[in-house]
Amino acid sequence: MIKISHHGATSGVTGSCHELTLHSEQPPPAGILIDCGLFQGAEKGDGASASNLSVDFPIDHIRALVVTHVHIDHVGRIPYLLVAGFEGPIICSEPSAIMLPEILEDALKIGFTRDKQLIERVLSLIRSRLVPVPYGQWHEVFAEPGRSLSIRLQRAGHILGSAYVECDAVSGDKHERIVFSGDLGAPHAPLLQEPASPERADRLVIESTYGDKDHESRESRRYRLKAILERALADGGTVLIPAFSIGRTQELLYEIEGLIHEFGNDCVTDGLAWDDLEIVVDSPLAAEFTSIYRQLKPFWNGEAADLVRQGRHPLSFEQLTVINSHENHLNAVDYLARSHRPCVVLAGSGMCAGGRVVNYLKAMLGEARNDVLFVGYQAAGTPGRDILAYGLRGGWVEFDGERFDIRASVHQVGGYSAHAGQSDLIRFINGIPEKPAEIRIVHGDASAKQAFKQHLESLGYSGILIPD
Ligand SMILES: [Zn+2]
Repeated sequence: MIKISHHGATSGVTGSCHELTLHSEQPPPAGILIDCGLFQGAEKGDGASASNLSVDFPIDHIRALVVTHVHIDHVGRIPYLLVAGFEGPIICSEPSAIMLPEILEDALKIGFTRDKQLIERVLSLIRSRLVPVPYGQWHEVFAEPGRSLSIRLQRAGHILGSAYVECDAVSGDKHERIVFSGDLGAPHAPLLQEPASPERADRLVIESTYGDKDHESRESRRYRLKAILERALADGGTVLIPAFSIGRTQELLYEIEGLIHEFGNDCVTDGLAWDDLEIVVDSPLAAEFTSIYRQLKPFWNGEAADLVRQGRHPLSFEQLTVINSHENHLNAVDYLARSHRPCVVLAGSGMCAGGRVVNYLKAMLGEARNDVLFVGYQAAGTPGRDILAYGLRGGWVEFDGERFDIRASVHQVGGYSAHAGQSDLIRFINGIPEKPAEIRIVHGDASAKQAFKQHLESLGYSGILIPD
C-alpha cells in the first residue's frame, strides 16, 4: 500500500509537512517526508502548533526529507525533526541547498537558542545531511526487494530553488507516480522560469493558497505599484513594505529597478525623480538572500539574464541602501518617523508577526502621510491580517499588548505573492496528459480549498479530497 498522510498545512497555509509511505506486511514501512515547516499565526497542525513545535508523529520509518523550497513554513521544523531522531538525508535543489542553512540559522536564533556553538552544531549537522539534486534528474531514495522510491525535482517558479516533487513509488505489483506541488509560482514572475506540468501524476497533492482567485497580470500590477508609490510618496511619508526575506523582496527590488530604469527622469512626486528615489532594505536576512540571489544568476529566467547582458544590475542598483546593524535600524526608524523625506522601506517579517517591520509599524502607523503596502498573503491571526482588515476603516492593531491606531493608508498589490492564482493552478493540472485519479487540496484557507474543489469538479475532475 502506498499511503499519503499530512502533518500540517491542512487547516491553513503554514506548517507544510506531508508523508509518502510504502506499507507492507514485511518488511516494515518505509517512506519520505515532503517539507517540515513552521506554523504561523493562528494555524495549527497535527497536535503541534506555533507554541508546540516538537515532531509528534512516528519517524523511525522515514528514510529522507525532501524540501520543496526554503520558506520557513516549509523548512522551519527541520531542527525539531533532527531532535526527534531523524537520521536521513535532506534532499533539495541546488539553490535550496545553498539557502537552507542560512534561513535555518535565522530560525534557530529566533525560536530555538541563542547559544552560538549549539547553533553551529545544528547547522553543520544539517549541512552534512544535504543532498542537492539537479532539476529534472531522477534520484533514488531507496530500492530493495519488492519496493523502491525515487524522486525528481522540477522547477516550481515560486522562489529561487523552488521545486515540485515527482515521486515514483513501487510497492509489490503497485507502481504509482505521486506529485507534491510544494508552492507553485505565478507565470511571468520576475527572475524565475514558470513551472511546466508534470508528465504524469496518478495522485496529486496541490497547494491552493489562491485556489479561489486570480492575480492581476504582471504588467498591470507593475503600473499599479508605480501608481501606489507615486500617490503614497506625494505627502512626503514613508512607504513601508512588509516582505518575506526570500522571494518577494528580490522580486520587488527587480520590479522597482525596472521602474527606475524606465521612468528615470520622470517625477515620482513633486521635486523627486525616480532616479533619486531611495529604497531601503532593512533586514540583514533579506540582504543576505538578495546577495545569494545575485550569485545564483544561472538559475534566473531569460528576461533577467538579458538585463544582466545589457549591463543592468536588477538586484544591486545605486538607489538601494541596505541596513544591517540593529543600531542603524533603530536610527532609521527614528529618522524616517520624523523626516518628511519620501522613502520606500522593505522590512520583514512579511506578515508583521515579528522582525524589524514591527518597529516601523509602531512608529509610523499613527501618521497619515505614511503608507503600508502589502504584497503577500496575510495568514489569519497575524498582525498583517489585522492591519489589512481594520486599517482601511481607521481601526487599530496590537503589538506587544499595546494598541496602535492606524492612520496610515493601507494598500495591497496582489501579484507579488509568488503563489499561482486559480487559473495558473488549473493550467498546471490541465497540462497533465492523463487526469490524476486523486487530487488532494492542501495549503489554503478553508474557503479557497472549497472553491478550488468546486471549480475542479465543474471541469470534470473527480477523486478530489480536502484532507484534515
Ligand atoms: Zn513558499
